[in-house]
This record gives sequence, structure tokens and C-alpha cells, in this order.
Amino acid sequence: MRVAIAGGGLAGLACAKYLVDAGHQPIVFESRDVLGGLVAAWKDKDGDWVETGLHNFFGAYPNMLQLMGELEILDRLQWKRHALIFNQPDKPGVLSWFDVPDLPAPINVITSIIRNNDMLTWGQKVKLAVGLIPAIVRGDKYVESMDKYTMTEWLKMRGIDQEVDREIFIAASKALKFIDPDKISATIPLRALNKFLQQKNGSRIGYLDGAPPERLCQPMVDYITARGGEVRTSSPLKQIVLNADGTIEKFILRGLDGAPDQDVDADIYVSAMSVDVIKTLLPDSWYAMPYFKQLDELEGVPVINVQIWFDRKLTDIDHTLFSRSPILSVYSDMSNSCKEYEDPDKSMLELVVAPAEDWIAKSDQEIVDATLKELEKLFPEHLPAPAKVLKTHVVKTPRSIYTATPGREQFRPVQTTPIENFYLAGSYTAQPFFGSMEGAVLSGKLAAQAIAARYPTAESPTPPTLVAAS
Ligand SMILES: Cc1cc2nc3c(=O)[nH]c(=O)nc-3n(C[C@H](O)[C@H](O)[C@H](O)COP(=O)(O)OP(=O)(O)OC[C@H]3O[C@@H](n4cnc5c(N)ncnc54)[C@H](O)[C@@H]3O)c2cc1C
Repeated sequence: MRVAIAGGGLAGLACAKYLVDAGHQPIVFESRDVLGGLVAAWKDKDGDWVETGLHNFFGAYPNMLQLMGELEILDRLQWKRHALIFNQPDKPGVLSWFDVPDLPAPINVITSIIRNNDMLTWGQKVKLAVGLIPAIVRGDKYVESMDKYTMTEWLKMRGIDQEVDREIFIAASKALKFIDPDKISATIPLRALNKFLQQKNGSRIGYLDGAPPERLCQPMVDYITARGGEVRTSSPLKQIVLNADGTIEKFILRGLDGAPDQDVDADIYVSAMSVDVIKTLLPDSWYAMPYFKQLDELEGVPVINVQIWFDRKLTDIDHTLFSRSPILSVYSDMSNSCKEYEDPDKSMLELVVAPAEDWIAKSDQEIVDATLKELEKLFPEHLPAPAKVLKTHVVKTPRSIYTATPGREQFRPVQTTPIENFYLAGSYTAQPFFGSMEGAVLSGKLAAQAIAARYPTAESPTPPTLVAAS
């Protein structure tokens, strides 16, 4: 089957990868001149990479790890010391480590919490542990049913004091979904915690050894094209044209730079674009269906990525840090953490600004100035002097992953749509890893699996197997 996929982010590429495995012929159409979507990156005039976002991989990403194994690029993941590291707002420059020992799960994570005395008192630790019991014991069903509450409401309900919210869950919510705990669905941090507690290396952080388009997307493109598929950039989907029976007749791609629009005829069509984009392209007659109407309930959240190059080393920490700053979320010195960005003499900090709704309309300079002000608290020895800024880049994404506020989970669509020849992929679609790289890969795989199940081929008479989804 010829399968046209609109969107060359991780979901679209993973979908195409698993479709070629199943004996189908996918063509990916990506609107931009670079692949990767939210993991896209491009080089500036000096040849330095500018990224859409600081990206961490986790041990609890089974589908991503399986995919990278199949592409034979697992060695591109640089696993960091098994720890979570927090800045301490009242102690400038001092870090608090949750070091996870080499013990079986969940004892390893629990031990890391028990051993850390910087952030939580013993009373708070006990209350948090007791409060978490239903999430651990009753598992996914319980965690899903907590989608009606914000994390702050859930903590209150479980008798866990506000200090724990302030100390831990502001940082966690901002890192997970770019919003505060009084906005995030309790399901999100609870599921992340459960995954971290269930697997020995679930909370271990890994970095790709270079920029995602080259180090992760290109191997997928090579794999797809070597097996009869195709990937085209600068090919934006403009319109979905229907047959009289409501199925898709063709995609129309917008011609760029004066070129004419182009028709794409395929047997099956997939949207692997973000929810904000597919909503604008849905044909009117589909929009009346509850399956498509529910997409109105999902909307991308703003986030900003800031990169700052300094004339010297600010730190030798090779890891992700939770800044615990009101403006910033996580950050890393990529000159230590990422092989391709390595520099023994100069730091390049990559920082996520979240929540970003108050910042997204501000100028790059205002965002950099505010970031530097915060960095003075994190690196008091070096800033505002003697360290000097060499250059900066700001990448704003006004609508990134779906905004994970309470009540959204029920509106995330499954990959199989009511239209016979149309499927959805994308990290916003139904899968248990939310808006993440793992979620994107799994969603693409689930869409490919649904297509393979409906249209078996000689190569794949049975659907491809999935790695445990939850
Ligand atoms: C700042 C930031 C930090 C993040 N950090 C992490 C992290 O540490 N760990 C993690 O797991 N996840 C992280 N994420 C989330 C992760 O990047 C996303 O969940 C994932 O990449 C989404 O992939 P996707 O394919 O579903 O969607 P997208 O990446 O949004 O892909 C959609 C694609 O569709 C294309 N498109 C749009 N319109 C059209 C059109 N008309 N025609 C054709 N193509 C079109 C877009 O250009 C894009 O390439 C982060 C995201 C951001 C923004």
C-alpha cells in the first residue's frame, strides 16, 4: 500500500519506519526544510546547532530504545549518572542531588529520596510516601482516574503539604509539560513517578550525542528509503480532498517559491502533524464527527528554548538540572553533556523557559536578559561577571505538545479514525507517554500497526509487535 504521511517529526518518521517493516510504501511530506518537528535543529552562521528544545531520553522509553536498537544507533545515547539534580533557590550555586543507587526498583528511587535531606523533611518524606501508595499499588487505572485533578489539588487531597509541591512538583511539572502543578493534570506526574519506580533504570537520563535531525532522524530516513519508502522536506500539506463517500481522494501539497501545488494520490493517508495543525486542515464534513470534534479540546502549550554561549566554563556538571527558577525549567551545559557540542574551555547552556505564556510575545533580548538574571543566582561565581556572553539563540514554540491540564486525556484520539483510509499519529494521540519523544515514536508505531493489521502484506501477514505500552 502507498501511504502518504503528512509531518516529518518523530511520529511521522516512526510511522514510516514501521510501515516499511510491514511491507508498505510510505512517503513522508514534511512542511519545513528540516526534519524532526519539535526535535528539529539547524546550524547558525558559525556552524553551531540551534535546537528547538533541550531533549532528555529516559530509561523508561521502551519504544524509543527499541527503535534506536533496530536502527543500530543505540550507542548514540550518552547515559548520565543515575540522579536528579536540583538547584536550591535559597542557596545560590548549591545543588541538591537525588542519587539513585544501583539497587532493584523501586528501592533505588525510594533510597534516593530517603537519603536526600536538602529538600524534604522526614515528615514530608513520610507523608509523600504514604500519599503515593494508591498510585503505586493500584497502578495505571488509579493514575488515569486522577486526570480530573491538578497536581496541587491531588497533593492537598492526599494530605501532602504545600512545601512538597513547592520543593518538588513545580520543577517536575514544568519539566514534564511546561506548566505549573496548579495547572497540570495529576495523571502526568503520577504516571512519570510510577514509571520511574517500576523500572530500575526508568529515571536514568540519556542524551543524544549530537543534533536530533542528523543523529536520530537521518538514520530513520536512511532506513525508510533503503526499503522503498520516501521522505520529502519542504512539502507542506495544504488540503485534504474527499471522495463522495467521505474517504480521502488525495492530499494537495502547497507549491513553494512559485511552484504549482501538487496532488498526492495514495491508498492510505496519515496525519503526523501537531493537533493544532490538523485541526485547521480537517474537511468540514469530518468536523461534525465527535472523533474529530474532540480535537478542539486539545491545544499546544507555549515553550521557549534559550541557548547561551559563554567565554569560559561555568560548570563541569554533565547532566540535566532542575533550575527551580520561576522563569526557567530544566537546563544543561551542553558543552559537557553532548559529545558533538563538547568544549573543554567554554560553556553553552541550553535552557527551557516554562511556563512561557507570559514570555512568548516578548523580544529575544528581553528573554535573554531575564534568563541571565536567573543565571546570576545559579552561577554566582561567574555571573554577572567575570563570564561574558559570546552569543545567544532563542527558539519560541507558541504551540508545542498538547497542554496537559485536567480532563484532557479523554479527548486524545486513538490512531484509527472513523475514516477508512485515514490515520492519526503524533504524541498528542492516545498512548501512555503523553507529549514526549517516546509518545511520538509509540504513536507512529501504533498507527503503522493499525494499518498493517487492516492491510496485511506478504512481508508482514501479522502486525508488528509492540513493546509494552504502559
Ligand atoms: C522545548 C522542548 C523540550 C522538550 N523536551 C523533551 C524531553 O526532554 N524529552 C521528551 O521525551 N520530549 C521532549 N519534548 C517533547 C517532544 O519533542 C515531542 O513530544 C515530540 O518530538 C513530538 O513529536 P511529533 O512527531 O508528535 O510532533 P511534531 O514534532 O510537532 O511533528 C509534527 C511535524 O509536522 C510538520 N508539519 C506541520 N504542518 C505541516 C503541514 N501542513 N504539512 C506537512 N508537515 C507539517 C511539522 O513541521 C513537524 O515536523 C520537548 C519539546 C519541546 C518543544
